[in-house]
Amino acid sequence: MKLLVTFSRKEGKKPIIAQVVKDTGVLVNVERALIDSSEGEALIDIPDESCRVVKDRLAALGATVRILEEEILLDETECVECGACISICPQEVFTFDEEWRLQMDAKKCVLCGRCIEICPHRALSRRGGG
Ligand code: SF4
Ligand code: SF4
Repeated sequence: MKLLVTFSRKEGKKPIIAQVVKDTGVLVNVERALIDSSEGEALIDIPDESCRVVKDRLAALGATVRILEEEILLDETECVECGACISICPQEVFTFDEEWRLQMDAKKCVLCGRCIEICPHRALSRRGGG
């Protein structure tokens, strides 16, 4: 399950994700992080069964947590197998199979949206949201 975590750094530069790992014992996979001097945003992936304990601990540490239920959808009828999404995706979500048909490993996606913007046939879109 993916969580979008937003936190302030004004009260010191505490490593909030590391603290949550230490406190909960849950292995947190940080998929994307944008941190400046005043605030940070991180996209993390955790096991579904650990969602509540991690979310509660993050909230107790002052972070705002949003559960991301979005996913990238591929409309195979629109895809022309141009490969543009393969080139732009930072997570290697897309590959061609032996017959040069586009394959997607959605579990690797960090929802950056670059593939949607670049697709010349509007074959990619976001679904869901939370
Ligand atoms: S960019 Fe769009 S049309 Fe090109 S391979 Fe990817 S999904 Fe298909
Ligand atoms: S949203 Fe970003 S990470 Fe996800 S498939 Fe598209 S380019 Fe890759």
